[in-house]
Amino acid sequence: MKYDETLDKLWKMGDKTINTGFFHFSSEGELIIKEGGKENSHEYNVHEIIKEYGSPLRIYMPFVVSSRIKRVFETFHKVIREEGYTGGFAYHYPMKSNQTKEIIEEVLKAGTDIEVTSANELSLIASLWKKGETRGELRVLCNGPKSDVYIELIRSLHKKGMNIIPIVENLEEFRVFKKFAGPIGVRVSLSIGVDSRWSKEVSRFGLTEDEVLSLPKTPNITMLHFHVGSQIGSKRTIFRVVERGALVYKKLKKKQTNLSILDIGGGFGVPYTKKKIMYDVPEVALGIVKRIKRTLNGTCPHPQIVVEWGQYAVAPSQMTVYNIIFQKDIRLVKPSKKWYVIDGSFMNDLPDTWAIGQQWHIVPANRAYGARHAVWLAGSSCDSDDEYVVKDLRLPKLSKTEELYIAILDTGAYQEALSSQHCLLDNPEKLMLTNGKVKILRRRDSAREVGKELGW
Ligand SMILES: *Cc1c(COP(=O)(O)O)cnc(C)c1O
Repeated sequence: MKYDETLDKLWKMGDKTINTGFFHFSSEGELIIKEGGKENSHEYNVHEIIKEYGSPLRIYMPFVVSSRIKRVFETFHKVIREEGYTGGFAYHYPMKSNQTKEIIEEVLKAGTDIEVTSANELSLIASLWKKGETRGELRVLCNGPKSDVYIELIRSLHKKGMNIIPIVENLEEFRVFKKFAGPIGVRVSLSIGVDSRWSKEVSRFGLTEDEVLSLPKTPNITMLHFHVGSQIGSKRTIFRVVERGALVYKKLKKKQTNLSILDIGGGFGVPYTKKKIMYDVPEVALGIVKRIKRTLNGTCPHPQIVVEWGQYAVAPSQMTVYNIIFQKDIRLVKPSKKWYVIDGSFMNDLPDTWAIGQQWHIVPANRAYGARHAVWLAGSSCDSDDEYVVKDLRLPKLSKTEELYIAILDTGAYQEALSSQHCLLDNPEKLMLTNGKVKILRRRDSAREVGKELGW
């Protein structure tokens, strides 16, 4: 396939630093996905896929997940070796970032351990573990508030031999787990502000630094954990947080002598809008290792470093594809712009658009050349909030003779579990691209299937 560099540049494709390295435009202006390296490479033409499977579509690319996880492992192993860090490294994929079976299978294959936030997530992981479909020694961290059902499940899986660590997130849970037969972790809410939408002055997650440091000596406290929020804005913030966490670790280690793991949580950012490069794995890994080492300054053995980078691993592994079904003038306010209406729904399929004002990088899947319009996008539910209104989105003008399809990038984190069926629109069909083949994972719902959840 011949790529068109001018189109790639125009639409910011083919650029690894903003996670579009797998995507290109053909000289016909069609979106191409490239899998694999020099020897075993495959190409998928998104426009051809749409012609065969229709729209809307969720297109999942497992090779993106594995390549991103591999990069984290390789980088940390290299940095740890070069810096003489003795504590080791583990990657716990946080299940809440995307719980679909196809993602969990891929992250496990890539060698991660797991972090869960609820009894149901744990239960699904346990079902794979019982069937022998995970590494036997898979380690599972249990975050989130512990319901009675959740506590019982943790206890029974521990008895059955699972390598499981409940993370205590309030004093009540400490009373429940201080006599737990296995290791436990403690979550601290660091006294530090960060540039993340989710950073709260009064975080409701975890114990305060004082509470953590005042816990009685407890032999099974093995891990100190913190998570300050998603989409952390700069590497400086990541480093400030890690330094603070390492300081608490150093103080805590004096009393809790079995402490040996420092879990720095998730929050590695994804450059969703492609307007700026955020930060990259090598510089962040190096900064983390150096700062932990420096803060502990020889006072105790180096802890194992754990990261729980969720959307980092999964957001770029999926795109959501729609057809523009018609256009309308935007009267009065913006006479120069058009509404483009898609054959799906932002509220249903990409609910963060509506919930947190998430912005995406949106490109044409075909007809990427030629004259463009400034547009706002609207979903086809009957809800006036079902829209994507940003300042600077420009897409190809509609043509009388050929459909226009668009691809919304980086939609692999959080959207599916949050998605809904407002106006009873159906879900996009879900496809997986692997080894040069297209596989249907989930078909579009029929009216009966959509109604089932609602008692029909
Ligand atoms: C949500 C969450 C994560 C994942 O955050 P990302 O922004 O997806 O990296 C990790 N750890 C905990 C405790 C979380 O709540």
